[in-house]
Amino acid sequence: MASGAAQAFVMAQHYDLIVIGSGPAGRRAAVQAAKLKKSVLVVERGRRVGGVCVHTGTIPSKTLRETVLNLSGWRERGFYGRAHRNKEHITAEDLRRRLRITLDHEVEVLEHQFARNNVVWSAGAARFLGPHAIEVTGATGEVRHYHGDRIVIAVGTQPYRPPHIPFDGESVVDADEILELKRLPRSLAVIGASVIGVEYATIFSALDVKVTVIEPGAGLLNFVDRELAEEFIHDLRDRGVSLRFNSRVRSVSKLGPESCLVQLEDHRQIAAEMVLYAAGRTGATATLNLEAAGLVADERGRIAVDAATFRTNASHIYAVGDVIGFPSLASTSMEQGRIAACHAFGAEAHAPPEFFPYGIYSVPEISTVGMTEEQVRERGIPYETGIARFRETSRGHIMGLNSGFMKMIFALETRRLLGIHIVGEGATELIHIGQAVLNLGGGLDYFVENTFNYPTLAEGYKIAALDAFNRMPARQLSVETFDIAERLRAC
Ligand SMILES: Cc1cc2nc3c(=O)[nH]c(=O)nc-3n(C[C@H](O)[C@H](O)[C@H](O)COP(=O)(O)OP(=O)(O)OC[C@H]3O[C@@H](n4cnc5c(N)ncnc54)[C@H](O)[C@@H]3O)c2cc1C
Repeated sequence: MASGAAQAFVMAQHYDLIVIGSGPAGRRAAVQAAKLKKSVLVVERGRRVGGVCVHTGTIPSKTLRETVLNLSGWRERGFYGRAHRNKEHITAEDLRRRLRITLDHEVEVLEHQFARNNVVWSAGAARFLGPHAIEVTGATGEVRHYHGDRIVIAVGTQPYRPPHIPFDGESVVDADEILELKRLPRSLAVIGASVIGVEYATIFSALDVKVTVIEPGAGLLNFVDRELAEEFIHDLRDRGVSLRFNSRVRSVSKLGPESCLVQLEDHRQIAAEMVLYAAGRTGATATLNLEAAGLVADERGRIAVDAATFRTNASHIYAVGDVIGFPSLASTSMEQGRIAACHAFGAEAHAPPEFFPYGIYSVPEISTVGMTEEQVRERGIPYETGIARFRETSRGHIMGLNSGFMKMIFALETRRLLGIHIVGEGATELIHIGQAVLNLGGGLDYFVENTFNYPTLAEGYKIAALDAFNRMPARQLSVETFDIAERLRAC
């Protein structure tokens, strides 16, 4: 008589590709394979498709941010003063309402995309029974079996919840639970100055919640250009956000329904109505039974892959998105999914460009692409920087912007653009101009010689480039001329 696993294999429904997880990485892999005329099954353990991106991560946090900026009148405060508000009493329900509508739209679009491309999706938690065999357990315990020629693991991450933190979903919450808020706290302690921690800290601060950020490191967002980070830190302190760097949490206690106490290892204490624990996430691999497929995850649940193809140690299994670690962005996850699916079925896929933009939707926004000044120095590249402040632009005057800062870094010898770093209104949109020039190998002269719409914040590019130009030695001109001639010859 056949064993359970072998029996399951015999009865399993077959697909060219099985994708585990319907977030950006899984979705893009599935649609790409479907476009290559492959039969595709997506398994999703959540109630609806979309992943962390749609339900608890990118889209909800950005929707919350937009709602807060609109209702609080944040964008108008530069003009009408810090007390200005569009809506006087903002409630948790005000915030949740827009979230529900946005999420419904997003899910509808995704379901339609799957249907249009003949991607089948199956609700339930997947686990490996063998290298090609997947078992799916639905919400009511029913079990289904599938066999996939190729498999893409795109299970993403979940919040790290250390046992010494008394999570209760109301006063002490993780980054998923904060979206289910029943009331708005008057004070919030955020543990962890990661991207997620910083985004929520600044969003709540824009609602005039008293926010304290606790971070064991010496600063925040350590991958961001230091000058930019300092500008951002100055902005946060100026509006009353307390930043406790070099501070480790010893304990979190609930003193009452709206009263928590965070004790630090250096014996300082922080009282807050609510605590958000946002210090890390782990890959959602614990229940996948990876061993059955000959795979292992590291101590943070991540799966190792080949950096160019996203193939794991098993030649027919790929892993993409947050489950493989840095950069853990929806944008890069999608590209990884597409490349993996192309590789799996022998279709050509271009490698992603070296530099991708990083968007941090804090208030104010931060966006960055290319090398930081610290990285340029480490590599020993002679360079010059140029700075623009949004308040120096006419658009900035019109919008009443007091803050906003753009920094560009150029190589002295070639005048090539090496990095762009922006903090301020619209940073995550503005960055794409710099990204295009950077990835196309352009440099200082593009910005100096081209006309920008007026009045725009994008004029900051010209201002920053001229700032660098004024400090760059004139003799470098000939090098760039040579560079352009070389490129023209290559066309
Ligand atoms: C608060 C927050 C804000 C963010 N903001 C941004 C942002 O502004 N911009 C940006 O680019 N990125 C942002 N991100 C990151 C972004 O959400 C992730 O990079 C992206 O969602 C990763 O996509 P993914 O497909 O790898 O996984 P996910 O989106 O995590 O999806 C994984 C899916 O797999 C499912 N799954 C897990 N295990 C199983 C199983 N055993 N069986 C079946 N299904 C399973 C899960 O239910 C989930 O639906 C944010 C993340 C968070 C948490």
